[in-house]
Formats: sequence, structure tokens, C-alpha cells
Amino acid sequence: MEPKFTAELIGPCGMNCGLCKAYLAYSRGVPAQKGKVSHCSGCRARNKNCAFVKRDCPRKVGKSLYSCSECPDVPCERLVKLDEHYQIRYGVSFVENLKMIKEKGMDAFLKSQTERYCCPSCGDVVSVHDGKCYKCSYQGPKPKSLDPKYRWVPNRK
Ligand code: SF4
Ligand code: SF4
Ligand SMILES: [Zn+2]
Repeated sequence: MEPKFTAELIGPCGMNCGLCKAYLAYSRGVPAQKGKVSHCSGCRARNKNCAFVKRDCPRKVGKSLYSCSECPDVPCERLVKLDEHYQIRYGVSFVENLKMIKEKGMDAFLKSQTERYCCPSCGDVVSVHDGKCYKCSYQGPKPKSLDPKYRWVPNRK
């Protein structure tokens, strides 16, 4: 199976932006709609990190460091917190992603992500955020993130 993602799509924190609903809508030509569909070209492409890590990172990840993997403090408290929330809401662990990239290499990681999130209907990608394929409109099981009980507002200092 050809990888659907590139290394450029993997954010400094380990998030695969290629699974993000804002990236999928943007890259699959689904028009943006106020309050409903937003567009994003990815963390590295925009040189920004939505995941609340880089902004307050003392190591300047994404600038001075390519990713959290290179950090002597990994996983820091901030990354652990983000990781826990993403695990609960989306079944994704950034720390595990970073670990796999380090141990097995980027190509193996991208391949396993492609297999794991493959749309059963058209073979494209199912978003972790809403269980949807933005190419063919397949709707898989919705993640817990859509249940208000699991809503997460990150602590901002
Ligand atoms: S919104 Fe965040 S997770 Fe989604 S593509 Fe943009 S930077 Fe990546
Ligand atoms: S693990 Fe290191 S590089 Fe990553 S957010 Fe924490 S302090 Fe920054
Ligand atoms: Zn599909």
C-alpha cells in the first residue's frame, strides 16, 4: 500500500496532520464553512503547531529542534498531558508515534498509519477527529471527542 502521508505531515509533537479533519478538508477540496469545516495545510507547512506544545515549549521544538524526539526531556509534562487527552478522545498517542518513528523509521511509520486509517470504502484516509473520509464521505464510528463528556479545553497560562 502506497503511503498516503509524507514526513512533512508529521508535526514536531508526533501528530500526523494527515489525519486531521482540517487538513483533509483542505487537501481533498472540501470547501471551508464557517463554524463547520476549517482548512489547515499542516503544522510544518504553516510553521505553526496547533497542538499546544510548541507555543510554550522551552526547547523551541519545531525551530531549534526538529521534533520532541530530540529533546532530553521527552516526554515532558506538556507532551504527556496532550498525549493523554488525544489518547482518550481520538485513540492516538503522540508519544507512541514518536517512539515508532525513532525505532522503526519514518517510512515504516507512514506505512502503518496508511494501513490503520485507510478508508474501507475508497482507500483514502479516515480522519481521527470525526471518523470521516473527506474523499468519498464514508462515515466510520465517531470518536469519543464528539461526546461533550470528553471535550477538552487545554490549560492556557
Ligand atoms: S489543525 Fe493542527 S493537527 Fe490539523 S493540520 Fe493543522 S496543525 Fe495539523
Ligand atoms: S518534549 Fe521537549 S521539545 Fe517536546 S514539548 Fe516537551 S520540552 Fe518541548
Ligand atoms: Zn473514502
